[in-house]
Amino acid sequence: MNIILFGPPGAGKGTQAQFIVQKHNYFQLSTGDLLRKEVKLKTTLGVQIEKLITNGKFASDEIVNTLLRQSITNLKFRDRIIFDGYPRNVDQAKNLELILSEFNQTIGHIIFLNVSKEIIEKRIMGRMTCDRCNMTLNEFFNKDQIELHPCGKEHLKKRKDDNFDVIVSRYDTYMKTTKPVLDFYSKKVNLTEIDGAAEIELITSKINSVLNV
Ligand code: ADP
Repeated sequence: MNIILFGPPGAGKGTQAQFIVQKHNYFQLSTGDLLRKEVKLKTTLGVQIEKLITNGKFASDEIVNTLLRQSITNLKFRDRIIFDGYPRNVDQAKNLELILSEFNQTIGHIIFLNVSKEIIEKRIMGRMTCDRCNMTLNEFFNKDQIELHPCGKEHLKKRKDDNFDVIVSRYDTYMKTTKPVLDFYSKKVNLTEIDGAAEIELITSKINSVLNV
């Protein structure tokens, strides 16, 4: 079953997706990660993207679609995709539906991680992601894990767009254009809302029960 992990930036979508991928045979499709990978590889697309995301803007639908198709058409991930950070607006949700249906696939479930703006600010200001294994930690909450990180703590990097002004702008965009995506799906797809302020392990176990694993 394909699922969407939904919630504001900083809700913990990436953190939870990582656990599901590690334990079960799922593929995490984060358009944010796919975009950052292009930037890192300095492809032509990557140069365009870098300008947009460092200003807290979204990449164009055309760019995102190209990257999406590459993953959805990969047979290895058939019906085992966790969408994390996509779709971000109703047009993208309609677009995703079209692409999936071309390949006889659907979204089976939406998991909504709901968190307040105050918590998000703190989390994102401390977010650090490993550039080797992609693990996400937090410099305020995970001091010990950072010291003991198996890839070496020098691989834990802050994202360029994780600063206060960008956080505020991303949150506003979420409220205005991303949140309506929930209504779009509400009559079509099963939805489970989880309190994203809870402990990471508790959220993981709730997600596992939704996935029936
Ligand atoms: P998203 O993918 O939704 O933007 P992340 O998974 O990157 O969010 O999490 C943002 C930050 O919050 C990271 O530093 C992460 O370690 C931390 N975090 C994630 N989930 C929790 C949680 N349940 N409790 C405390 N901190 C969390």
